[in-house]
Amino acid sequence: MAIKLDLDIRLSGIDLELCTARNIQLQLLRLDQIHPAVSGNKWFKLRNYIKMVQQGQYAGIITFGGAYSNHLVATAAACHYHHIPCIGLVRGLEGSEAPTGSLLECRQWNMDLQFLSRTAYAQKNDPGFLAQLQEQYPEHLIIPEGGYGTPGIKGAGRINDYIPPDTDIIALPVGSGTTIMGIINELNDKQQAIGFAAIKQGEYLKDMIQQHCDHTNWKLETEYHFGGFGKHKPELIHFINDFRRQQGITLDFVYTAKMMYGLLHCIEKYDWQDKKIVALHTGGLQGNRSIQHLLP
Ligand SMILES: *Cc1c(COP(=O)(O)O)cnc(C)c1O
Repeated sequence: MAIKLDLDIRLSGIDLELCTARNIQLQLLRLDQIHPAVSGNKWFKLRNYIKMVQQGQYAGIITFGGAYSNHLVATAAACHYHHIPCIGLVRGLEGSEAPTGSLLECRQWNMDLQFLSRTAYAQKNDPGFLAQLQEQYPEHLIIPEGGYGTPGIKGAGRINDYIPPDTDIIALPVGSGTTIMGIINELNDKQQAIGFAAIKQGEYLKDMIQQHCDHTNWKLETEYHFGGFGKHKPELIHFINDFRRQQGITLDFVYTAKMMYGLLHCIEKYDWQDKKIVALHTGGLQGNRSIQHLLP
């Protein structure tokens, strides 16, 4: 059975005085509604890797992630639906003693979790480490953290198929940068992409994006990380709660809330009069489990 994904992806209009005053049309592309576990951009990044396994070259998938990782949960669920054995290498040994909700969900989807010390995990992109891992699992496809790599980037580019061609600005959150690279590569001539780094000191991402993209019509905002990856502040939590009350849409605190907060700032800051903006709701709502007590 193939995964049942709802790829009839909708746009939700966002109704804000900030936008109407500038004749800006702001819509959210609801990638969060694709599937509860394989949500958002994660399916787009994974689909080419899944195809490579289905074509028979590999017996399973190995990938990497932290104890709250959306990518691990999405990979576990996608592999389950496609009957692909999968191994998740988890950052930090503490997760084996006290598994998070995300890790428990990975196990429910039958992912085999193996825990690495932070030092061992830091080698995740080291050629020597990867060669050794491949030797240990000769028939497994190793997917880098976040689905990073050419198949992931190409898959993410298919998100553009769901964005109206007359959109001026495409806004999205950025972690590994894989998704925005795919989006940039598929921009049409009138479109601009604007990314919001979910991590502290995200400037290095600009060089990475440049290496993978020919288009220059993009920007990366690095000031809206709220203290760093997975960090939050009361202001961000208020924003999430207000946004849900006003628009009826839940944002995740790691990525989409920081993007939307930053985007509304940019609408004040830049001259975007009359523009059509589509922001990507890239999902990640499973991650809100860890701050459920702050979200009434
Ligand atoms: C993983 C993730 C991102 C970041 O995507 P990258 O391709 O790693 O930049 C953004 N939003 C959500 C909800 C995610 O889970």
